[in-house]
Amino acid sequence: MAKMYISPDEIRTLYEQFDAPIANLDCGQKCAPYNEGGKPFCCDICVAVPTLYEEEWQYVRANTDLWFEWKAENCTDTPEEAAEEVARLKGETPDTMIMAECLGPSLCQRPYRGLTCRQFPFFPYIDSQGELLGLSYYWEYEDRCWVISNMQIVSAEYRRQFLQAFEVIFERVPGEFENYQYHSEVMRDTFNQSRRAIPLLHRNGFAYKISTHNERMRRVLVESLPKFGPYKLAASMPFPDGS
Ligand code: SF4
Ligand code: SF4
Repeated sequence: MAKMYISPDEIRTLYEQFDAPIANLDCGQKCAPYNEGGKPFCCDICVAVPTLYEEEWQYVRANTDLWFEWKAENCTDTPEEAAEEVARLKGETPDTMIMAECLGPSLCQRPYRGLTCRQFPFFPYIDSQGELLGLSYYWEYEDRCWVISNMQIVSAEYRRQFLQAFEVIFERVPGEFENYQYHSEVMRDTFNQSRRAIPLLHRNGFAYKISTHNERMRRVLVESLPKFGPYKLAASMPFPDGS
C-alpha cells in the first residue's frame, strides 16, 4: 500500500471543511446547455478527468460506490486512441494521484466529491517568490466554464475554505506546493506569450490583474475581469440573463 500522508479521518475533515458551493446558484445550469452531452463541463469525464489523491481514493472506495477507475474507452473511438489518451493524461498527472470516474452528475453524492471537484475551476496561484496569493483558474476551460467568466459570483466563504484546504494539503502532501508553483509559472509564461494579465482572486478578498512581465498586481473590480466564448456573447446582449 502507498505511504499515507493524510489519514482517512483527515480526508473526511478536509471534505467537511471544504464543502461550500462556489456561489449561491447552481453554475452547472449555466454551462451545461453549452455542452453537447448536456452535462456541466466539469462533470463530463470526456472534458475533465477528475483525479483523486491516493488517500482520497482509499477513503471514497471504503465509503461510497460513487467512484471507479477512469476508462478512456468511454471517451474514445478505438482502443488505440484510448491507450494514447491514457498515456497523455498519465504524463500530466502526478504519481500521487488516481484518474477516476464517477457515476455522473445525476447520481453525484456531494459529501464524497473529490477535492478536484471542489476546487474546479480554480487552482492555488503561487508567485515566483513562493507566496500563495489566492485563486486563479485552469485557463484551458475559459471558453467552457461559466464561473471563469463570472468570477464576481464566487463567495467569500468558498474562497476562505479553498485556501484553508490547500494550506493543509501543502503541509501534508509532499510536492504539491511545488506542483502548483510550477503550474503558476506555466500560466505566467502562457499568458505572457499572448500578452495577457493573469486574473486573481486574492486571499485579501479583492480581485487583481497580475502583469506577467514583472508580476506587479493591479487591483480591479471583479466584474471587470474578462469573459470568454458564449458567455462573452451573452453578456453583450441587450438583456443578459445575469450571466
Ligand atoms: S464550475 Fe464551471 S464547468 Fe463546473 S459546473 Fe460550474 S460553470 Fe460549469
Ligand atoms: S463527483 Fe459529482 S461533482 Fe465530481 S465530477 Fe462527479 S458528478 Fe461532478
